[in-house]
Amino acid sequence: MNQPTPDELHELLVNNRAWAAATEAREPGFFTRLAQQQTPKYMWIGCADSRVPANEITGLDPGEVFVHRNVANVVVHSDLNALSTIQFAVEHLKVKHIMVVGHYGCAGVRAALLRQRVGLADNWLGHIHDVRLRHRRRIDHLPADQQEDILCEMNVIEQVGNVALSTVLQDAWARGQKVAVHGWVYGLRDGLLKDLGVTMDNPDTVVAVFRAALKRYPRSAPRAEG
Ligand SMILES: [Zn+2]
Repeated sequence: MNQPTPDELHELLVNNRAWAAATEAREPGFFTRLAQQQTPKYMWIGCADSRVPANEITGLDPGEVFVHRNVANVVVHSDLNALSTIQFAVEHLKVKHIMVVGHYGCAGVRAALLRQRVGLADNWLGHIHDVRLRHRRRIDHLPADQQEDILCEMNVIEQVGNVALSTVLQDAWARGQKVAVHGWVYGLRDGLLKDLGVTMDNPDTVVAVFRAALKRYPRSAPRAEG
């Protein structure tokens, strides 16, 4: 196996210098301004997949979106890393929108669906397997190729619910802070984001939004006529 060498990083550092110079030329004072403070309106919770970079996809500059990524965009109530990031975003940065963004073709979702063993991550992906089990009557009757896409969407919906039910969001809403949680899914094949219509912006509508979203996934295929 080839050893990693510093040469492999050289291009990245060259790119960086060119990018910094071009950015500063386009917008003089850009970095000095950003160094003072960040005031992003958005928080992105997405998959660690290298094909789903938050800023590029949404056309946002540095300083405009606060990002947390992990394998298969999961938000678990005991994950101090995710919760701390969400707390900082909500309480200190006062973001207005939190987007949980899944993507079709997610290897984590596929592994959970097919129960593929990938190692330590199996324990993490168990959270997605739980989503599948909870909604198996809406998933198992579908053709195999659709099951994966639908589980990607359902995973996003579940994680939006988890963010909304976290103490961070519940406390923010109790204080009267205006912050909304959204669920999106990204298409690797076309580069497009789809809004799953599960926006939660106050504690009273969380359950209703969740239920309405699930109804879009019928429990079984419609019966053939005749
Ligand atoms: Zn993924």
